[in-house]
Amino acid sequence: MSKRSSTMPQPSQDRVSRLRAELKSRRLDAFLIQDRIDQYWLTGFTGESGQVLVTPDCVTLLTDGRFDETADTEAPWARKILRKKRSPQETAQQIKRSKLGRVGFEPAHMPVSLFADLTKLVRPAKLVAASGLIGPMRSSKDAGEIERIRNAIRIAEQAYLQLQGWLKPGMTEAYVGGRLTFEMQQLGAQGSAFDPIVASGKTASLPHYEPGSRPISRAEGLLIDWGARAGWYVSDLTRVIWPGSIPSKLGKVYDVVREAHDRAIEAVRPGLKASAIDAVARGVIRKAGFDKQFTHALGHGIGLAVHEAPRLGQKSDDVLKPGMVVTIEPGIYLPGVGGVRLEDDVLVTETGYEKLSSLPC
Ligand code: ZN
Ligand code: ZN
Repeated sequence: MSKRSSTMPQPSQDRVSRLRAELKSRRLDAFLIQDRIDQYWLTGFTGESGQVLVTPDCVTLLTDGRFDETADTEAPWARKILRKKRSPQETAQQIKRSKLGRVGFEPAHMPVSLFADLTKLVRPAKLVAASGLIGPMRSSKDAGEIERIRNAIRIAEQAYLQLQGWLKPGMTEAYVGGRLTFEMQQLGAQGSAFDPIVASGKTASLPHYEPGSRPISRAEGLLIDWGARAGWYVSDLTRVIWPGSIPSKLGKVYDVVREAHDRAIEAVRPGLKASAIDAVARGVIRKAGFDKQFTHALGHGIGLAVHEAPRLGQKSDDVLKPGMVVTIEPGIYLPGVGGVRLEDDVLVTETGYEKLSSLPC
């Protein structure tokens, strides 16, 4: 019995038609999706083996037998092709069958070997690198996506509040990260959005530190950067905890980061360049004499991926638009001493911003 139906649900309907309009403006006859996240965003299909071919009148999902049932459940409206193996033959055959001329693809997602194989097999059709096509579309979230991000934030925050109850000196950084992940799962998350960064004492000066067997102590600060993935969408937060008193050197740093964080969030509004928000935070940190210790961009978009468009950095050309959800995460890192970063998730609204995360700093 077939469970397939021909009606494309929202939000796929809207996304497919936006993609088709973009293809038309770029003079492309079709688009081949290679990335699992783009595939999910467009079709709702979560299977890890998949390609999607979007033409003006058809959406074809290529997968294999392991995901047959998943495809029928999650994207029954799409035309399904079960490949025998991962070979490019089947993909090429679909492109030739549809008599397509120019087939776009995202170069960042296309392995060179597959590109070489496909190029030969699809002739006379032509594969055309079309970068930044789906990424910018994904950056403005619809109401359903914002709801899922809110839920991922709620779970991460609740787990953090619980952590404040069980955190004890002597626990290792790795234990704290693992238990935090487990508690987010207990609260309904699929898991962590990324391996939590749990950095104690001077290790907090490494922005992407990997937690290890170092035990946490009452005498040192603890930087935690964590997030949940729930309903496929993520949250991304950072807080610093001092079980004892704040060492004076880091106390001043904390105040500066807090000020940069608050001013940058207040500056968020649509129409502004993302680099302008970075400049607000960087200005506060520079004035305090720590600009060389703020070694990364101010923030990034979140959604189905932990890092996606827009980029809030000094060199970013992105412009803030309503529906974007971005992190604001200034930090100051003092090698050999420690570091402070504060990270919150902020929605760009029609008129300004809404801070989605609500843990006190
Ligand atoms: Zn983070
Ligand atoms: Zn982040």
